[in-house]
Amino acid sequence: MSKIKSRTAVNRRKFLKIGLLGTTSTLLGSRLLTDAVQAYAQEKPETIAFPPPVYRTLGRTGLKVSVIGFGAMLTPEPEVIRVAFEHGVNYVNTSRKYMSGKNEEIVGKALKGYRDRVYVATKIQTEINTPEAIIRDVEASLKALGTDYIDLIQLDANADKDRPFRPEPREAFERLKKQGKVRYCGVAVHKDPAGVVNALARDATRFFDTALVAYNFKSAKDVGDAIALAARSGMGIVAMKTQAGGYATSAGESAHQAALKWALQNPNVALAIPGMRNLTELKEDIAVMGMPLTASDQRVLERYGATVEPYFCGLCGKCEGGCPGGVEISTVNRALMYAEGYRDRGLALSTYREIAETAGADRCLDCLQCVARCAHGLDVAAGMERARQLLG
Ligand code: SF4
Ligand code: SF4
Repeated sequence: MSKIKSRTAVNRRKFLKIGLLGTTSTLLGSRLLTDAVQAYAQEKPETIAFPPPVYRTLGRTGLKVSVIGFGAMLTPEPEVIRVAFEHGVNYVNTSRKYMSGKNEEIVGKALKGYRDRVYVATKIQTEINTPEAIIRDVEASLKALGTDYIDLIQLDANADKDRPFRPEPREAFERLKKQGKVRYCGVAVHKDPAGVVNALARDATRFFDTALVAYNFKSAKDVGDAIALAARSGMGIVAMKTQAGGYATSAGESAHQAALKWALQNPNVALAIPGMRNLTELKEDIAVMGMPLTASDQRVLERYGATVEPYFCGLCGKCEGGCPGGVEISTVNRALMYAEGYRDRGLALSTYREIAETAGADRCLDCLQCVARCAHGLDVAAGMERARQLLG
């Protein structure tokens, strides 16, 4: 991993005065806050030339959303989110789980004064399943966000790919809609994106309005095909993990922008939600609105793709059938990506701990030889070993 630098590393080099904003210091006290405050001190929003915003329709919800939404999972500073709102970004994505529940509070602070012009998307916790527990969870989100409605509530489809098709979450979401607490329902798809999105597209009930899908220039073709089918069925497609893990690279300064442009060139994608820690990253991501993917971008992506090749897992889950130990390889790899790519140890650990004890990378310790084969040539055993070292 030593050759790969997170894009926040650039900000860390230039140390400036810390502590001016301080809104989340008591919550986090981490390097994330340091990064955000440093970047904010270096680059005042009024000096940034923001482009005119570009909007697309989010499927059958009819919502007109900015093609760059604010992925808040890594953002410790509400002011960064507010700058985005001020410049036309009208969609913010958070989750109960990010920053151990504090991320929704940060988004809630950012929403003050902007609630009527911004769409709020959040997720329920992974491990809850009864209608009553789901309703309580959404009510906790409402409280943390300081709002009385959520525009888009999302259900995670992780290890349990059938979760969106079970009656309990649907009953809970239906009740919440009737109470005016949520407007639209979506699914956050992690494992087997092609399979789950295809199933959602073919779901005759049309219960879910949107799919939040890992989609990037490294995605397998079947993911793009599934997205096309879902978009044709009327679902709004929200692209996440557009940067194939968030690894910075020597491929060029614009690699992250090229990756975003690549996702947005697909007209079936309504918006992307890159995670933005600070103003520098906001400026970098927001700049792609309205910009076409160029031949130069394609060349940058080829180089970037080569850099991430040894680490990139498409989360398809195809290797898991070959593992006699029943290891949740795709989820382990996702946690690993949060650790190595995003450099977010908290998120990596919380994701890793969602895996049942019997399906974690520790199972590999009893295995003489790895027989799980990655459909895309990834060294499965090496990934499980790194996960154990970093997260076990
Ligand atoms: S080493 Fe490979 S085959 Fe063995 S348990 Fe781990 S992932 Fe499965
Ligand atoms: S390791 Fe390979 S086969 Fe397994 S989930 Fe990742 S991309 Fe798919």
